[in-house]
Amino acid sequence: MERALQALSDVDLLREPRTIESAQGPLAIIDAREVVLLCSNDYLGLASDPRLADAIRIGAARWGGGAGASRLISGTMAPHRLAERAAAEHVGAAAALIFSSGYAANVGTVQALVGPRDLVLSDALNHASLIDGCRLSRATVKVFRHGDAAHAAALMAEHRGSYARALVVTDAIFSMDGDHAPLPGLREVCDRWDAGLLVDEAHAIGVTGPHGAGLCAELGVRPDVWIGTLGKALGLAGAFVAGSDAIVSLVYNRARSFVFSTAISPAIAAAVPLALAIAREAEDRRARLREHARRLRQGLSDLGLTIGAGSSAIVPVQLGQPATAARFSARLLEEGVLVQAIRPPTVPPGTSRLRVVPTARHETEHIDRALSAFARVVGRP
Ligand SMILES: *Cc1c(COP(=O)(O)O)cnc(C)c1O
Repeated sequence: MERALQALSDVDLLREPRTIESAQGPLAIIDAREVVLLCSNDYLGLASDPRLADAIRIGAARWGGGAGASRLISGTMAPHRLAERAAAEHVGAAAALIFSSGYAANVGTVQALVGPRDLVLSDALNHASLIDGCRLSRATVKVFRHGDAAHAAALMAEHRGSYARALVVTDAIFSMDGDHAPLPGLREVCDRWDAGLLVDEAHAIGVTGPHGAGLCAELGVRPDVWIGTLGKALGLAGAFVAGSDAIVSLVYNRARSFVFSTAISPAIAAAVPLALAIAREAEDRRARLREHARRLRQGLSDLGLTIGAGSSAIVPVQLGQPATAARFSARLLEEGVLVQAIRPPTVPPGTSRLRVVPTARHETEHIDRALSAFARVVGRP
């Protein structure tokens, strides 16, 4: 184990946690020093929202902290059902099911919907949890080029005939690149080949679309399965899968990460309807988030840095080698900004980067302070 750790360290891939000594917010205290925090997924700034903290407190007083068992045993409580109703309504689906995390939702859902006789087409840059779900399902997986619906169509034409069911799985907004999936094109492929479409809206729920309903809603595409997370823009923890009654019942019965896992805390579940209601009305926060992301993209490319192509709140600064990204991140921290280096296996080799993400609670002054810090690091790496 020591040698394995040393090997990771030798190639600049060893990670060590940094303790945040304050609540999530635009600023963070690290080693008793205040820094601008620009690397969470707390897009709407709800992670430390006092209204949600109150809802959790009231939920805990009424329902306690623990669910006691798996949902199939005795863990399904009234707050879980209300949270599921609210989540289904948020995306316009018939039904939803709450998981303990987005990771668990993706792993369990893919494994519940397809098996060894089936085909999955998966975008090359999909989140690790979708990839793990594909592996656990033992379906045949064909990977299409990132964002390339024509390649997905070609793979479907070549392979569809040999399999029973087919499922196309994709992130909506890609977690490390910040660009969008070609959802209308993928929907067409699925319609033509009698396949299901699963869209992981982890970085889109609350952030984009009418009332923050996600990228599918924004583009007018109806997937068969939505995955949404509650721990990012919604400021809580957990995730949901949404779809038809049949799909959700099948996931309830078959998803191993659901069946064999204790339900999320009823105190958290009790806060979900409020988090969704706040997110629905958060047009001002979404506008601020967009403006901050635009300012960061502009300011960072003015410094000569290579910024990814997307237009979301995720602003990737491409640096290439892991050591370069780690060094840049360490220098930024010295200059008062926390931005983590993202390295393999989170991203493909040679594409190590900084992932800069503002929240709606940042002030323009915070963004400008961060841009000055970047300028100092670029000038004196
Ligand atoms: C974060 C993320 C997940 C996992 O969600 P958690 O609730 O953090 O486990 C799933 N999919 C994507 C695309 C993500 O970015």
